[in-house]
Amino acid sequence: MLLFPSLSDLDIRGKKILLRCDLNVPMKEGKVTDATRIDRSLPTIRTLLQKGGKVILLSHFGRPKGKEAAFSLRPLVAPLSKAVGKEVHFASDCVGEIAQQEINRMQEGEILLLENVRFHAGEEKNDPVFARSLAALGDIYVNDAFSCAHRAHASTEGLAHLLPKAAGLAMEDELRHLSVVLDDPKRPVMAIIGGAKISTKLDLLGNLCAKVQSLAIGGGMANTFLAAIGQEIGTSLAERNMLEAAKEIMDTALAKGCKILLPIDGVIAPEFREGAQDRCIDLENMPKDQMILDIGPKSIAALKEMLHQSHSLVWNGPLGAFEIPPFNRGTDAIAEEAATLTRQGKLISVAGGGDTVAALGSFGKEFTYLSTAGGAFLEWLEGKELPGVVALQQ
Ligand code: AMP
Repeated sequence: MLLFPSLSDLDIRGKKILLRCDLNVPMKEGKVTDATRIDRSLPTIRTLLQKGGKVILLSHFGRPKGKEAAFSLRPLVAPLSKAVGKEVHFASDCVGEIAQQEINRMQEGEILLLENVRFHAGEEKNDPVFARSLAALGDIYVNDAFSCAHRAHASTEGLAHLLPKAAGLAMEDELRHLSVVLDDPKRPVMAIIGGAKISTKLDLLGNLCAKVQSLAIGGGMANTFLAAIGQEIGTSLAERNMLEAAKEIMDTALAKGCKILLPIDGVIAPEFREGAQDRCIDLENMPKDQMILDIGPKSIAALKEMLHQSHSLVWNGPLGAFEIPPFNRGTDAIAEEAATLTRQGKLISVAGGGDTVAALGSFGKEFTYLSTAGGAFLEWLEGKELPGVVALQQ
């Protein structure tokens, strides 16, 4: 279990708290289209406000090149105020005079949002001078942005070395759940890894092989594994230059006693488009002019059986091209089974990364933990140390 200071270790009243959140929310025409990240920041914000802190929010937004108005955090003031239930003030810069003046006006229990930290080049460079100018604004640093912890930036890493620090409640929650399934899990552990490509998930597959007892591979990446064992895959999405890499993963799994489950049947169609003529086949009968777009009923049954034999599950990536029905059926069926087993207290289920939250849909909400972190979740699955987490522990 990871050890790091938490909010309860800090004396908050009257203190200026620099709270790093992830407010990089999806927006369309100036409106927030998914408030999940705001909602996840609320428990920490509310706790700090209740304890009489002066809460100063730090976040990045998008990938601006310098100070680009389109990447201002100002449009978040209204949705944040509504969510917190209290007026959120705004400073049009995150360092210097402008920020300082706004902070000087703050009373205990008030909240201020600073402008996008990425408006300064020093943020992404983790420039010590920029980190010090952020640190000069506060008394305490709280990091609640697990989703940004794979980046060693000034507001995610540098600041942690300059002020008394703690993990926020969302960060704590995320780390606790992640460590429950991989560091100290209830065995047997099953991993389900799907998605488009094996090339983006090589390290992750290599790391998981050594840690889990079974690894189910689905989605486009399963096609590469099937091709590597000599299976006809027709015109399916696959990476022909990754066949050796796929074999190496299978060898590692064998050496580590990890059982790999590949699809034995599939839902195929001539092309990936709505209304395409689809049918189920055993993969040994795969025609050359069709593509595999989902796992079939026999593969679903095999995965369900493995789920029943497992006590923990970690899941990343869809099992099929889920965006277009009926190629969502495999993902849906397994997600539903995992949700049911979780509800019954038979399975600890953790999922996240990339498209996974969208692919699992409403079933994902019933998982023990659903991570909204993309890159950070994947790097954690790869077994990498996350700079933002390491800095909190030191
Ligand atoms: P990733 O971001 O790597 O998790 O990949 C997610 C994408 O993989 C989704 O857009 C799916 O449509 C795609 N995908 C999953 N299975 C297949 C498949 N059998 N053929 C083509 N694309 C797939």
